Amino acid sequence: MISDEYSPYKIVHHQDRLDMLRQGRQPPPLQMHLELTSHCNQNCIYCCFRSQAHGFHTAPLNVTVPTAKILETLASARDLGVKALQLAGPGEPTLHQDFRTIITTAKEYGLEIGLITNGSMLRRHSDILSDIAWVRVSMDAANAAAHAKIHSCGEHVFGEIVAGIQELVARKGPAIVGVAWLVLQENVDSVYEGCRFYRQLGVNNIRYSSLVADVDDPSYRELCRQGHAQAKQGKTDFETEDFLVFNSIETRANMIQEALLDEFCPFKELSCHVAVDQNVYMCCTNAYSAAGKVGTIQDKTFAQLWNSPEKQRLFSRHSPRRMCPSSCWFKEKNAFINYCLKSNPQHVNFIG
Ligand code: SF4
Ligand code: SF4
Repeated sequence: MISDEYSPYKIVHHQDRLDMLRQGRQPPPLQMHLELTSHCNQNCIYCCFRSQAHGFHTAPLNVTVPTAKILETLASARDLGVKALQLAGPGEPTLHQDFRTIITTAKEYGLEIGLITNGSMLRRHSDILSDIAWVRVSMDAANAAAHAKIHSCGEHVFGEIVAGIQELVARKGPAIVGVAWLVLQENVDSVYEGCRFYRQLGVNNIRYSSLVADVDDPSYRELCRQGHAQAKQGKTDFETEDFLVFNSIETRANMIQEALLDEFCPFKELSCHVAVDQNVYMCCTNAYSAAGKVGTIQDKTFAQLWNSPEKQRLFSRHSPRRMCPSSCWFKEKNAFINYCLKSNPQHVNFIG
């Protein structure tokens, strides 16, 4: 069964945006990925924002976006008709000095909010996070020793984060609380145990996935196979209606390795990535690259940039096959949206 949370088919609920694309118009984005700061109180061994070893363009370190610019961008998002706001790295969003004001304002503007966090500040903010759409905590471990090794922090941090998750869950708000787990040498042996541990903690789901940059490495693919087998068994043994196990280790690795980029990228028209350097990029895959840059919002609002002739021209000339990395995370979504955009697809009545 396809999970709601990670379905690649969500676009079917946005026929207005599809109609605009069919008419050759550039729609307002449905979602905004917004970076608040690149400060972080952890230093994960897989952090793609901090090390070029992971094959991505790195973010400038220790930069915090001024609160006024963030609030202006939220107002732009509201005015344009953005529906969802995702707060995530290259740093820990909850470390922004005005994190609570940002969350409160986004709520006032009617934006649905999702947060990817390392969990270190959950205890402080669980009150304002329990009624957002979702919180995903990057844990990657089911015990303090492995967590400390992977996140380069003290072993005591694991217990603090677990207490924060428990506090958030205990509030019984509508927020879907999930745990993220990237398969690594340091945690592959405890993938199965992760299902048991986090179900007991009361979270709604756990998602296992693979590192994007390493999928061509045969030894990493072997780790993925081991992790996949454990996650599959964990899903069989621990999944319930209230605790879902998403095992995307092999599917993600296969998709990144094998699927081709489409000639047209609708994802960049429906989503946007506002980075700590106050540039807007087409997506998180090409953030901080020259090819992915839409423009700056340092001297203008997000809405002014999004509606500008320069952005319209850039998008109309964009060619994923020439300009984007083959490791694009959104190939599957683009393939489905492009199928939806076809005016006369073949054999639509042969549904079985
Ligand atoms: S918590 Fe996130 S931003 Fe911080 S080091 Fe880890 S992966 Fe990077
Ligand atoms: S990397 Fe993928 S999602 Fe990003 S602009 Fe290119 S094709 Fe689109």
